[in-house]
Amino acid sequence: MSHGIFSPNFKETPYWWDASPLDESEPAPIGPVVDVLVVGAGYTGLCVALQTARGGKNTLVIDRHQPGWGCSSRNGGQISTGIKPDFHALARDHGEAVAFETHKEGLRAVSWIGDFIKAESLDCAYRVCGRFYGAHTPKHFEKLKNKMASQQPEVAVDAYVVPRAEQHKEIDSEFYHGGVVQTPFASLDPGAYHKGLLARARASGAVVAGQTEALSIERRRGGVGFNVRTSRGLIQAQDVVIATNGYTSRLTPWQQRRVFPIGSYMIATEDLGDQARALIPHDRMVVDSRRIVVYYRLSPDGRRIIFGGRVSLAETNPRISAPRLHRHMTAIFPQLETAKISHSWMGFVGWTFQHMPHLGRHEGVWYSMGYCGSGVALSSYFGTKLGQQILGLDQGKSVLCDLPFRTKPLYYGKPWFLTASVGWYGFLDRMGI
Ligand SMILES: Cc1cc2nc3c(=O)[nH]c(=O)nc-3n(C[C@H](O)[C@H](O)[C@H](O)COP(=O)(O)OP(=O)(O)OC[C@H]3O[C@@H](n4cnc5c(N)ncnc54)[C@H](O)[C@@H]3O)c2cc1C
Repeated sequence: MSHGIFSPNFKETPYWWDASPLDESEPAPIGPVVDVLVVGAGYTGLCVALQTARGGKNTLVIDRHQPGWGCSSRNGGQISTGIKPDFHALARDHGEAVAFETHKEGLRAVSWIGDFIKAESLDCAYRVCGRFYGAHTPKHFEKLKNKMASQQPEVAVDAYVVPRAEQHKEIDSEFYHGGVVQTPFASLDPGAYHKGLLARARASGAVVAGQTEALSIERRRGGVGFNVRTSRGLIQAQDVVIATNGYTSRLTPWQQRRVFPIGSYMIATEDLGDQARALIPHDRMVVDSRRIVVYYRLSPDGRRIIFGGRVSLAETNPRISAPRLHRHMTAIFPQLETAKISHSWMGFVGWTFQHMPHLGRHEGVWYSMGYCGSGVALSSYFGTKLGQQILGLDQGKSVLCDLPFRTKPLYYGKPWFLTASVGWYGFLDRMGI
């Protein structure tokens, strides 16, 4: 059955790569001595590099694959505050002041990225389109309304309630029991955004080299700087930055124990013509209240549905994940039963045990990671802050630097605990709880 869902020109690569192909050119020559060596050329790494290169530091960014190969050219392009724990949970664990500051960082990241894209003239289809958050059950709708009403005014996200009777204005589907529209949230084309960042980083003097894997990091004798062994030779660096997020490995065992990979999956439909825009008439981003998330949107040209979800933990075959996503999509939009899939792809997001990103320095090595599936704004914002910290600038500080970055006993890189917890969340979703 499922093979019938693929279009004749089906691709196992991100839809975004059609318009913004990865840089396949020969990797740039790399010098043996730099001021700053950044490992990972996604949004985090490039935003660090933009700061340090402009601040006068000789900066090299390396990536095991092509720059942007990771999540930064694979994501859904949805921009939200991305701080998962709610205010009350944070206040209970860390006190009210930290809870306020943490949520303010999420809000700042959302408004910052809009200003940044404008200031850098990045041509990436950025739009403050708002997000429709659909309630999966009547109970979820009541919860959403209560959550909105109990937002702390200082860190509230502008939003309004959409009752089920008016839902058709937002989405041509009977699937939800109402929802809310969160107005400041935005969208962009992730591939074009990465391409623009890469061009800016290079123009600012940073060298960005693909096909260059960091193999080991050692402090230099005397404790000043590091020797980094790479697949293309030894590099001596004053500062080293780990920007590997969901692809963090044994290269940095301390970080690997604190950030775990979870597969995230997407499909794009074939060109649906005007039918696509009729499904999401205001061109908003969409997510829903299930714990195992689905998220979707129109393509920037308004002619396709780009649909994502966590339909597996680690499956890497896009032909296996595609039918599962197609089933989710057609449960919401039965109109798309015969729509073919033109692209299917996946990537590994970096999750943390605190459900929050972390940035800072451990044993002299800088890092920013763990955006828990919401990293478009956060990785760019915290990457920028990390770059500022390396330059010794006060504006690089963040409350998230001071939060404990914890691991769990027996976790060394294989997230054995995920099957049970995701199974439990899936059960709760099916029960509508
Ligand atoms: C399918 C999908 C959908 C998503 N949707 C959204 C969304 O809609 N909104 C949102 O906010 N977020 C979303 N995200 C998350 C978001 O894309 C990420 O949080 C963000 O891109 C992280 O950027 P990064 O630069 O930290 O990491 P990445 O872009 O993943 O880059 C890490 C890089 O490190 C490199 N690397 C790893 N180890 C080494 C090494 N030893 N040597 C050299 N290089 C190395 C990798 O090759 C990789 O390119 C999604 C993610 C996925 C996978």
